[in-house]
Amino acid sequence: MQQRLSKELSKLTDNVLNLVYPRHCPICDEVMEPFCIKNGKLVKGALVHQRCNRKIKRIAGNTCVKCGKPLGGQLSEEEYCSDCKNVKHYFVRGFSAFEYRSISGSLYKYKYMGRQEYADFYAGEIADRYGRKLKSLGIDAIIPVPMYKNKEILRGYNQAEILARKISDKTGIPIYSKVITRKRNTTPMKELDSRGRRINLKRAFNISKNDVKFKCILIIDDIYTTGSTIDEIAHEFMIAGVQSSFFLTLAIGKTI
Ligand SMILES: [Zn+2]
Ligand SMILES: [Zn+2]
Repeated sequence: MQQRLSKELSKLTDNVLNLVYPRHCPICDEVMEPFCIKNGKLVKGALVHQRCNRKIKRIAGNTCVKCGKPLGGQLSEEEYCSDCKNVKHYFVRGFSAFEYRSISGSLYKYKYMGRQEYADFYAGEIADRYGRKLKSLGIDAIIPVPMYKNKEILRGYNQAEILARKISDKTGIPIYSKVITRKRNTTPMKELDSRGRRINLKRAFNISKNDVKFKCILIIDDIYTTGSTIDEIAHEFMIAGVQSSFFLTLAIGKTI
């Protein structure tokens, strides 16, 4: 009874919030209708315009068996992308929802302009596409890539954690956001090459080992580029006793 009541209350709060702070479309950023009429009933409005939804490129077709990057320009019999052929990864396998270029504007607003609400759309897409798969892998913990504390305070939120929470709600897999922290503010990765990225991240994370009671984790981030951040985290968890690490990101680049 109490559980039902709290569920109804959270639905009501959600609806009121929707009216006071209307959502924005994650693609064109226009204000969305909070409610609409469907089959004669008043229901919650859509999270994205249909016309905008069609512009997004989902990851599909032939992908790298390691990082999940689309193998666009490569021969169809190839199994690995050119990056994964040359680098040893600590994660088992990765999954991503969208091709980076088709969603980069949306991600920018999500990350730097406070559009945290976009996470509902992103997580819905991820759960529809990968929910079953994730459960079949036996993942027992969701780990968002941590941000350096001062940076998180300045930004007001960690975008990977917000996304991870929504994915946890939708899949029922528990999230552990405090078990790993970023010890120092690393140089922004986009300013470094692949080798520089790895050196930059050496010992950048700290795991509270006593809290690691799980065997199979899913690391969540917004973008996958060379995989050095995810590798470093997967490596640290391996040392702490985790047997396998998977990752899931919102967006991934395409192999040229
Ligand atoms: Zn739109
Ligand atoms: Zn790959």
